[in-house]
Amino acid sequence: MRSADRPIQRVDVLGVPVDAVDMEAALRAADRAAQGSRPPFRILAVNPEKVWALRRGALPREPFSTSELLIPDGIGVVWAVRLLYGIRISRVAGADLMQELCSLAATRGYSVFLFGATEEVNREAARILEQRYPGLRIAGRRNGYFEGDGSDIVNEINACGANILFVALGSPKQERWIFRNAPRLSVSVIQGVGGTLDTISGRVRRAPVIFQRMHLEWLYRLIIDPRRIRRQIVLPAFAWKVLIEWLRR
Ligand code: UDP
Repeated sequence: MRSADRPIQRVDVLGVPVDAVDMEAALRAADRAAQGSRPPFRILAVNPEKVWALRRGALPREPFSTSELLIPDGIGVVWAVRLLYGIRISRVAGADLMQELCSLAATRGYSVFLFGATEEVNREAARILEQRYPGLRIAGRRNGYFEGDGSDIVNEINACGANILFVALGSPKQERWIFRNAPRLSVSVIQGVGGTLDTISGRVRRAPVIFQRMHLEWLYRLIIDPRRIRRQIVLPAFAWKVLIEWLRR
């Protein structure tokens, strides 16, 4: 069977589902769905911080257990899948997948909606994406600050007929919003993209390529924002638990 025809294998990392995909497989699945998936094909990112938050109950489980694609967004998750299952996947960073999807949308004619971040960041990210991917059609955009549960935003998104929706509200807000509203949305693909609009707009700098290649993006983010230590403290605990699980098997 060609790798393109093989179904995506879903594995379990410390009780959290993750799909054993690389960028090519993730894009292929999203491309197929963008041609008219109903209900929408939901893509969420899984990294060690989220695995930990899910285990502690700080993130709801349903959005993850019901989503169609769970990308291995952190190098810790890639390493865990390799160690526990012997599957050689590579990291699919949510920020990279979003840009690849925009590039695909520009060539295929899918329109996109950008939902999330501050008004200024959202507007600037839309401008940069249109410039970077000639032909990309941004059907609509909206900042991520709203009153109530934000379900009225569904009508706004449906009205502009977008095919792909990027939700950038951060965790766990975006996972909750996507889980609650996906059934009423008429888009075909939804991706939760966290702080990606901030990096596209240039408000937050992404790690230099050398850090990304060495799988040290987490270290760069820690250096420029030491407060992240509170979130990253889970990394050694995650690695330890995975090792214990590997030995147990
Ligand atoms: N955000 C938003 N609405 C909110 C809270 C946050 O649109 O009510 C946006 C915020 O402006 C930022 C993103 O969500 O663009 C969160 O970024 P962060 O890097 O914290 O997300 P992560 O990827 O770590 O989940």
